[in-house]
Amino acid sequence: MRYVSTRGNAPVLSFEDAMLTGLARDGGLYLPEDIPTLTTGAIAGLAGRSYEDAAFRIMRPFIGDSFTDEALQGIISNAYAGFNHDARAPLVQLGANHFLLELFHGPTLAFKDFAMQLIGQLFQDALARRGERVTIVGATSGDTGSAAIEAFKGLEAVDVFILYPHGRVSDVQRRQMTTPTEANVHAIAVDGDFDTCQGLLKDMFNDFTFRDEVRLAGVNSINWARVLAQVVYYFTSAVSLGAPHRAVSFTVPTGNFGDIFAGLIARKMGLPIEKLVIATNQNDILHRTLETGAYTKSGVAPSISPSMDIQVSSNFERALYYAYGEDANAVSDQLNDLASGGFQVSQGAIDWLRETFASGRASEEETMATIKATHLRTGQVICPHTAVGVKVANEHLGDTPMITLATAHPAKFPDAVAKASGQVASLPERMARQFEAEERVTRVTGDLGELQALIRGRLSK
Ligand SMILES: *Cc1c(COP(=O)(O)O)cnc(C)c1O
Repeated sequence: MRYVSTRGNAPVLSFEDAMLTGLARDGGLYLPEDIPTLTTGAIAGLAGRSYEDAAFRIMRPFIGDSFTDEALQGIISNAYAGFNHDARAPLVQLGANHFLLELFHGPTLAFKDFAMQLIGQLFQDALARRGERVTIVGATSGDTGSAAIEAFKGLEAVDVFILYPHGRVSDVQRRQMTTPTEANVHAIAVDGDFDTCQGLLKDMFNDFTFRDEVRLAGVNSINWARVLAQVVYYFTSAVSLGAPHRAVSFTVPTGNFGDIFAGLIARKMGLPIEKLVIATNQNDILHRTLETGAYTKSGVAPSISPSMDIQVSSNFERALYYAYGEDANAVSDQLNDLASGGFQVSQGAIDWLRETFASGRASEEETMATIKATHLRTGQVICPHTAVGVKVANEHLGDTPMITLATAHPAKFPDAVAKASGQVASLPERMARQFEAEERVTRVTGDLGELQALIRGRLSK
């Protein structure tokens, strides 16, 4: 299996090298040259299997000879052993034809654990085998960072630096990043918003001298291995509702476009997905793009669903690659225009996007009202991100079962949940202790040189 860059100007890599590299050297994102498909029989055959067994069958064709079958099975088994639910990704029913896919039973209570726990194990195996080490730098609006620190803490071959926007993550998110005591993980609070953090990250990747010197690796949702891990629960949930014999639809609370892009891959692999609905909060660049055909930046407005507070969705570039018929030059040209504020998507590409995705947005008031109404009607307490999804999903219900991705545990965002529903969302018992521990964090300005010096100074070797 070979991986190519969306901008067409970076080396073609194996699964393992694409995973260890993260962002391609031409600024693009890696994608498989061809998407393997599963036959109807193979999809039907996932029914009744464990999550781990299904994950192996779904991911195996993408991995080529980077990992042996035995290694991959062991890695998957380790990755999900710390989850707090035997089904890993259970479905609960919300309405006659509406289901919630609970993706928050991992160690940091958000869906990011599905991918991060897996790539922690994949990195460890690959680096140990190669006798190498890497420096992982990640930018987070909250959940990626905590999931990365949790997955990589204490691993021999990696140092981890997580940049988050100072004052813009929830207390629970911040504590999950600042309380681990392992010496190889570092939480860094940046003066700015998530895009400032993501900008610094991109600048470090584009500084090839620094990149090679510290052996920089990325675990943001641009990392293909993360997208791949997320493809699995589209299959397992759809199959439990009757796929491949019956189609299903999905609504996905969307920020950086990684999670919903995994849904597109599942569809390309042969899973019958009718609607794939993008749900955004008030930071609605994706919804506006589908409506108007113009991809234009506007500042970030902080919301009660902070993990979706972004100006630019990095993984949208992967969708554009398919929208432009896999024409890397066209993608490159468009993305260059983004630096100056935005671009008009071509007619052919916007037609493709509108055929492929539906979309909707939820205002702050609508998000709060949805938390309240869902609790009153069903007894379920949902987090604000999930509520954005439920609000938009309600506008797309029909004869096909709708699965809304519940992306975080409500206890991760207790203030918004309490304000909306009057419910106290309490943390699982096993986490309470973490929240008495001392916090460890370094505050920095948005200056690239300062940050690079800090990272150089803290490397273990
Ligand atoms: C990251 C995150 C999202 C957005 O996912 P993307 O893959 O960035 O689109 C939504 N909800 C929660 C709780 C998240 O942590």
